Amino acid sequence: MQASCIFCKIINRDIPAKIVYEDELIIAFHDISPAAPAHVLVIPKKHIANLLEITADDNKLMAHLMSVIPGIAKTLGLEEKGFRLVVNTKENGGQTVDHLHFHMLGERFMTWPPG
Ligand code: 5GP
Ligand code: ZN
Repeated sequence: MQASCIFCKIINRDIPAKIVYEDELIIAFHDISPAAPAHVLVIPKKHIANLLEITADDNKLMAHLMSVIPGIAKTLGLEEKGFRLVVNTKENGGQTVDHLHFHMLGERFMTWPPG
Protein backbone atom coordinates (compact mmCIF):
# COMPACT_ATOMS: atom_id res chain seq x y z
CA MET A 1 0.00 0.00 0.00
CA GLN A 2 1.37 3.38 -1.03
CA ALA A 3 -0.79 6.28 0.18
CA SER A 4 -0.34 8.41 -2.93
CA CYS A 5 -0.99 5.58 -5.40
CA ILE A 6 -4.27 5.79 -7.30
CA PHE A 7 -4.50 2.01 -7.78
CA CYS A 8 -3.86 1.37 -4.06
CA LYS A 9 -6.77 3.78 -3.44
CA ILE A 10 -8.97 1.68 -5.74
CA ILE A 11 -7.93 -1.48 -3.86
CA ASN A 12 -8.84 0.25 -0.55
CA ARG A 13 -12.16 1.53 -1.99
CA ASP A 14 -11.01 5.11 -1.39
CA ILE A 15 -11.93 5.84 -4.99
CA PRO A 16 -14.53 3.93 -7.02
CA ALA A 17 -13.89 1.59 -9.92
CA LYS A 18 -15.95 -0.88 -11.94
CA ILE A 19 -14.50 -4.11 -10.55
CA VAL A 20 -14.78 -7.23 -12.70
CA TYR A 21 -12.72 -9.66 -10.58
CA GLU A 22 -11.25 -9.71 -7.07
CA ASP A 23 -9.58 -12.19 -4.77
CA GLU A 24 -7.14 -11.86 -1.87
CA LEU A 25 -4.18 -11.09 -4.15
CA ILE A 26 -5.59 -9.59 -7.35
CA ILE A 27 -8.13 -7.03 -8.48
CA ALA A 28 -9.31 -6.24 -12.01
CA PHE A 29 -11.36 -3.20 -13.00
CA HIS A 30 -12.37 -1.27 -16.10
CA ASP A 31 -9.94 1.41 -17.30
CA ILE A 32 -11.36 4.90 -16.78
CA SER A 33 -10.21 5.94 -20.26
CA PRO A 34 -10.67 2.82 -22.42
CA ALA A 35 -8.34 2.35 -25.39
CA ALA A 36 -10.55 -0.41 -26.79
CA PRO A 37 -14.23 -1.40 -26.38
CA ALA A 38 -13.06 -3.81 -23.67
CA HIS A 39 -10.25 -2.43 -21.49
CA VAL A 40 -9.63 -3.90 -18.07
CA LEU A 41 -6.62 -3.45 -15.78
CA VAL A 42 -5.49 -6.54 -13.87
CA ILE A 43 -3.27 -5.68 -10.91
CA PRO A 44 -1.71 -7.29 -7.86
CA LYS A 45 -2.99 -5.81 -4.59
CA LYS A 46 0.63 -5.63 -3.46
CA HIS A 47 2.11 -2.28 -4.49
CA ILE A 48 4.82 -3.15 -7.01
CA ALA A 49 5.86 -0.09 -9.04
CA ASN A 50 6.53 -1.86 -12.34
CA LEU A 51 7.80 -5.08 -13.92
CA LEU A 52 11.39 -4.23 -12.98
CA GLU A 53 10.49 -4.34 -9.28
CA ILE A 54 9.31 -7.96 -9.35
CA THR A 55 11.52 -10.34 -7.38
CA ALA A 56 11.55 -14.08 -6.73
CA ASP A 57 9.42 -13.36 -3.63
CA ASP A 58 6.62 -12.50 -6.06
CA ASN A 59 6.74 -15.81 -7.96
CA LYS A 60 3.52 -17.18 -6.49
CA LEU A 61 1.75 -13.83 -6.81
CA MET A 62 2.66 -13.44 -10.48
CA ALA A 63 1.79 -17.04 -11.28
CA HIS A 64 -1.56 -16.49 -9.60
CA LEU A 65 -2.13 -13.29 -11.57
CA MET A 66 -1.53 -15.15 -14.82
CA SER A 67 -3.82 -17.98 -13.73
CA VAL A 68 -6.79 -15.63 -13.32
CA ILE A 69 -6.38 -14.03 -16.76
CA PRO A 70 -8.37 -16.71 -18.66
CA GLY A 71 -11.35 -16.41 -16.32
CA ILE A 72 -11.39 -12.62 -16.59
CA ALA A 73 -11.16 -12.89 -20.39
CA LYS A 74 -14.12 -15.27 -20.39
CA THR A 75 -16.10 -12.96 -18.07
CA LEU A 76 -15.55 -10.20 -20.62
CA GLY A 77 -16.50 -12.47 -23.53
CA LEU A 78 -13.05 -12.29 -25.10
CA GLU A 79 -12.26 -15.99 -25.36
CA GLU A 80 -13.49 -16.47 -28.90
CA LYS A 81 -11.80 -13.59 -30.71
CA GLY A 82 -8.96 -13.01 -28.25
CA PHE A 83 -7.38 -9.97 -26.71
CA ARG A 84 -4.06 -8.28 -26.04
CA LEU A 85 -2.28 -8.15 -22.67
CA VAL A 86 0.09 -5.19 -22.28
CA VAL A 87 2.43 -4.06 -19.50
CA ASN A 88 3.73 -0.55 -20.15
CA THR A 89 6.98 -0.13 -18.23
CA LYS A 90 8.52 3.22 -17.26
CA GLU A 91 9.02 6.14 -19.61
CA ASN A 92 9.61 4.46 -22.96
CA GLY A 93 6.91 1.92 -22.27
CA GLY A 94 4.40 4.71 -21.72
CA GLN A 95 3.68 3.89 -18.08
CA THR A 96 1.70 6.61 -16.32
CA VAL A 97 0.62 4.86 -13.11
CA ASP A 98 3.43 3.43 -11.00
CA HIS A 99 1.57 0.36 -9.73
CA LEU A 100 2.11 -2.77 -11.84
CA HIS A 101 -0.87 -3.37 -14.11
CA PHE A 102 -1.72 -5.60 -17.04
CA HIS A 103 -3.93 -3.98 -19.66
CA MET A 104 -6.42 -6.45 -21.12
CA LEU A 105 -7.66 -5.00 -24.40
CA GLY A 106 -10.30 -6.55 -26.60
CA GLU A 107 -13.38 -6.32 -28.79
CA ARG A 108 -11.40 -4.84 -31.65
CA PHE A 109 -8.47 -5.89 -33.85
CA MET A 110 -5.10 -4.77 -32.43
CA THR A 111 -2.50 -3.64 -34.93
CA TRP A 112 1.16 -4.59 -34.75
CA PRO A 113 3.64 -3.07 -34.11
CA PRO A 114 2.10 -0.92 -31.37
CA GLY A 115 2.50 2.85 -31.59
P1 5GP B 1 -0.34 3.12 -18.06
O1 5GP B 1 -0.40 4.38 -18.88
O2 5GP B 1 0.41 3.35 -16.78
O3 5GP B 1 0.13 1.93 -18.80
O4 5GP B 1 -1.84 2.80 -17.69
C1 5GP B 1 -2.53 3.45 -16.68
C2 5GP B 1 -4.00 3.31 -17.00
O5 5GP B 1 -4.72 3.66 -15.83
C3 5GP B 1 -4.48 4.24 -18.12
O6 5GP B 1 -5.02 3.46 -19.17
C4 5GP B 1 -5.52 5.12 -17.43
O7 5GP B 1 -6.63 5.39 -18.26
C5 5GP B 1 -5.90 4.30 -16.21
N1 5GP B 1 -6.33 5.07 -15.07
C6 5GP B 1 -5.71 6.16 -14.56
N2 5GP B 1 -6.38 6.61 -13.49
C7 5GP B 1 -7.43 5.77 -13.32
C8 5GP B 1 -8.50 5.71 -12.36
O8 5GP B 1 -8.62 6.54 -11.46
N3 5GP B 1 -9.39 4.71 -12.49
C9 5GP B 1 -9.31 3.80 -13.50
N4 5GP B 1 -10.24 2.86 -13.53
N5 5GP B 1 -8.32 3.81 -14.41
C10 5GP B 1 -7.40 4.78 -14.31
ZN1 ZN C 1 -0.19 1.11 -5.52
